[in-house]
Amino acid sequence: MFKYWVIPFAALLLGSSAVRAAAGDSAIHQPKYVLVIHGGAGTILKSQMTPAKEAAYKAGLTKALEAGYAVIQRGGQSLDAVEAAVRVMEDNPLFNAGKGAVFTNEGRNEMDAAIMNGKNLAAGAVASVTTIRNPITAARAVMEKSQHVMMIGSGAEKFAKQAGCEIVDPEYFYTEDRWKSLQKVRAADSTKMQLDHDSAVKKTTLLGIENKDAKFGTVGAVALDKQGNLAAATSTGGMTNKKFGRVGDSPLIGAGTYANNATCAISCTGWGEYFIRLVVAKTVSDLMAYKNLSVQDAAAELIMKQVPQLGGDGGLIALDKDGNMAMPFNTAGMYRGMVTSDGKIEVFIYKGDN
Ligand code: ASP
Repeated sequence: MFKYWVIPFAALLLGSSAVRAAAGDSAIHQPKYVLVIHGGAGTILKSQMTPAKEAAYKAGLTKALEAGYAVIQRGGQSLDAVEAAVRVMEDNPLFNAGKGAVFTNEGRNEMDAAIMNGKNLAAGAVASVTTIRNPITAARAVMEKSQHVMMIGSGAEKFAKQAGCEIVDPEYFYTEDRWKSLQKVRAADSTKMQLDHDSAVKKTTLLGIENKDAKFGTVGAVALDKQGNLAAATSTGGMTNKKFGRVGDSPLIGAGTYANNATCAISCTGWGEYFIRLVVAKTVSDLMAYKNLSVQDAAAELIMKQVPQLGGDGGLIALDKDGNMAMPFNTAGMYRGMVTSDGKIEVFIYKGDN
């Protein structure tokens, strides 16, 4: 009998979050997640989405989750799971990574990717690559088959070919939708860059410069395997109309991608310049390590406070060593999904969906 009244009574005394912890309904009853993915954050509005397109995005996310979960389920490494999930999204033209990557100002597809192993802090990244079908696999090759962490441009491509990655003609990455987006941005203002996925006109500023119609893309995955190892992976085409040589946060370890078994695995999406300046992914990990914050509180501190305070926007996915996850975003939507250790898959698009 006692337990039925003590919790509401304690709620009055202690406030709801303390009671939730006392009642054990947040951390303790949260299902254990093993894989979380995103397909980009931005002004993704239901009013501007057709049912067919919405279904296609959800199917794409589900397929990526299934690919990663199969690895975890059979006792495989989190590293293999994040690579598998990201490869599926790189091959899907709906997402701004691999096939379907956005165009640069010069009309090229220049892609960035990174992967990190939380077990030993090994990491690999490629940037500004134009001929590697799956940049995430090239990032993994840099991590495992070279002494380096990051390789860029033609050098990265040469290395990826030697490492056995599939090389394609740059034409492979062309999609009409992304080409049209570039023409639209160029017609409005040939100098401004634009992030993928937004559909509504939105005013944001970067270092005092107004940027209308900001859009976000990028794909990412974080996973926790049965051995307790975390891994993170991120892959992107970057921003529409980006200047030659521009690299965003995604391939930068600590900015857009990070994993450490002691804290969490993280993949970000959003306006890269802000995520770089705030070293978002490593800062979330540091808040957990040095200030003892939960993964949810640490992720919210960056995405709901620090990034918007500086004028940026976007979101991230994070998974901690106990299978607790966070997926905050300060935009209208973020393509996202997760799977629990017992195989339950959920995918979401808009704010307030989950
Ligand atoms: N963060 C990526 C970049 O700045 C873009 C994105 O997430 O859409 O390159």
